[in-house]
Amino acid sequence: MLADPEGTILYRLKGYSRKDGKPAIALEIQGEVSLSCQRCLEPVRHRLRSERSLVFVPASRLADFEDEEDDTDYLPVEDPVEPLALVDEEAVLSLPMSPRHQEGGCSTDSGMSRLQRECAPQESDLH
Ligand SMILES: [Zn+2]
Repeated sequence: MLADPEGTILYRLKGYSRKDGKPAIALEIQGEVSLSCQRCLEPVRHRLRSERSLVFVPASRLADFEDEEDDTDYLPVEDPVEPLALVDEEAVLSLPMSPRHQEGGCSTDSGMSRLQRECAPQESDLH
């Protein structure tokens, strides 16, 4: 899905106890990645910024909590946590479904691609 692997994502994980006593992790990511524009297929930069709370509950009670809060995920407390997998998942979730350049920002919008403009002969060459 990523147009190039040069995007960087910074993340921060912080464990804490919620007011209700449940163990939780505050996950914060931000960064910039390159995606393929859905109109012209050229790379388009996309800024990521997302926060999520991950709350650990017994697997048997997971169904009671799911979809309760938008920015909170509930995970079974019995499962080992893979921090990078959490970051990865959150990054993917925060990507736009169909990335595009801003209006008029596509290289095809001018009628000529950047490549064609650069290769077009200068007028002086025509004499
Ligand atoms: Zn575009």
